[in-house]
Amino acid sequence: MKQTSIAGLAATVLAISALPARAADTDAYRWDKAAIYADQAAFDADEAKAKKQLADFERCKGTLGQSTQQFKSCMDEYADILKRVYRLNSYASQTNDEDTSANVGIELAQRAGVLASDMESATAFVNPEVLALGPARVDAMLEADKSLAIYRHPLDDIVRMAPHTLDKEGEELIATYSLTGDAASNIYGALSSADMPWPKVTIGGTEVSLDQAAYTKYRAVPDRAGRKQVFDAFWGKWKEYERTFGATFYEMLKRDSVDAKVRKYPDSLSAALDRNKVPREVYDQLIEQARANLPTLHRYFKLRAEMLGIKDLRYYDIYVPLVESKQKFSVEDSIEATIAGAAPLGEEYVAALSKGLRSGWMDAYPRPRKRSGAYMNGSVYDVHPFVLLNHNDDYESLSTMSHEFGHAMHSYLANSSQPFITADYPIFTAEIASTTNEVFLLEHMLAVAKDDDERLLYLGSALENLRATFFRQAMFADFEREVHAQVDKGGSMTGEALTRLYTDILKRYHGDAEGVLKIDDLYGIEWAYIPHFYNHFYVFQYATSITAGTAFAERILKGEPGAREKYLGMLKAGGSRYPYELVKDAGVDLASPEPYRALIGRMNKIMDQIEAIRAKGKTG
Ligand SMILES: [Zn+2]
Repeated sequence: MKQTSIAGLAATVLAISALPARAADTDAYRWDKAAIYADQAAFDADEAKAKKQLADFERCKGTLGQSTQQFKSCMDEYADILKRVYRLNSYASQTNDEDTSANVGIELAQRAGVLASDMESATAFVNPEVLALGPARVDAMLEADKSLAIYRHPLDDIVRMAPHTLDKEGEELIATYSLTGDAASNIYGALSSADMPWPKVTIGGTEVSLDQAAYTKYRAVPDRAGRKQVFDAFWGKWKEYERTFGATFYEMLKRDSVDAKVRKYPDSLSAALDRNKVPREVYDQLIEQARANLPTLHRYFKLRAEMLGIKDLRYYDIYVPLVESKQKFSVEDSIEATIAGAAPLGEEYVAALSKGLRSGWMDAYPRPRKRSGAYMNGSVYDVHPFVLLNHNDDYESLSTMSHEFGHAMHSYLANSSQPFITADYPIFTAEIASTTNEVFLLEHMLAVAKDDDERLLYLGSALENLRATFFRQAMFADFEREVHAQVDKGGSMTGEALTRLYTDILKRYHGDAEGVLKIDDLYGIEWAYIPHFYNHFYVFQYATSITAGTAFAERILKGEPGAREKYLGMLKAGGSRYPYELVKDAGVDLASPEPYRALIGRMNKIMDQIEAIRAKGKTG
């Protein structure tokens, strides 16, 4: 996961690490937060400076077109404000994440939140003013002062919105109404994460309240009857709220549809993709390829059934690990493997990565009250990236470290090569660097594995990752395209109808009709549980990213001439160009079928390897 600069703070419901503290949790495995601010006084001083800058920025309002000199001075000021607020925000949220119950972190996070919203108001005039200047005037200023060139792309990104922008009165109306725009997702959030009365089940003699975190934990229990019980209880509870979740979701679908119409887009999907100028063909190609290659997913389910010794595979059998492993990886083991895995990216990359892993970029170990999960924050531009982990000494922890440091190196390279204003990159490219490194890690681990059990662990984990990151996200994307299209056409949508649509897609992807994996109708309520659907047309980028990441990694591993340089060039380009074109020019066209076919080829190759090991086991 890559943390986005400001949004992450307000939008994330903090989940707390449930893992115990470790003796090895020393300064060597903590991040060097003092590199951002030496102490509280330094934070306070910089916050005061940001506030003053925001107040002073008022001088730019209505003057951007006055002269090239004025334009440049205001753009530079704008970039400096953004950079400072990101830095303050990072320090605050990281302090909060280290110990989510400490008052100091809570207070800093609130202050940073206020500052971020003040910044939004104080700089809100910039985009409309640039738009009003128009492309000819903006070009003329870029010509007049070459040092403005660093703003060319961000300015183009504003100017290209002209056909989707209303007159002053229209924009004011939209801004006023947008205050009500978050109703659906706010209601969804309150109901799904606070008010839902969770069912209770007894697992292994202990009564468990099956909230979302407990569901994630217990759906993978080895006892088959146990996980069926978890599924039935959990989805049974969601099903009771089908009507309410349906009404909420329909409100959001309508809002997206209205937004698209008002902004003069043909439909919701086009409007969403245009945020990062991603061509429609990418989205459609992804779904077409996922559908065409379902036999590969079905092959995986058949293999899974065989490995688990199950004849009639059901939906509640997909989370139990393929291979049980007691193998331990200390943080040191993970650091060494992450470095060794990245070798195909060359000495310079490896040297920077090694330094990062050993100089305060990460907070590695779980602790009571520390934020759970893992993320990378690359928005402290002048310092270095920061990585939060909850290293639990298993293989998943190792591959998470490798994934997050893929993000970290992306930010490191972009921050070192780009001016601040074009360093940050969007989600469309963000997950590529992390998945590329995961592919390298797998190849490295397979090469050093001591026996077939170890190899099976790595291969099984990679296979499951391909299911969850490619097929599952493509399935979500397929569902989103369908429901949005129906509402765009003026159709209505009830909870029951959403369940029907989702169940159809779920069955198709899992091979229900072919007898591969049976889906019980009750589980078709799963759509209501996916919070990402309230961030419309977002998840497809996980699937396209793993596709591109796999393609890049395979080319580099094959030693294709120039592949590594092009790939590193793409990382260094950060957000200086539109992401689809950037990836395409580095050699992977996500609107074409080839990279998807390569990903499917890799999934089949992994299954060939697993089957070969299993065949050896049977005969040997
Ligand atoms: Zn990630």
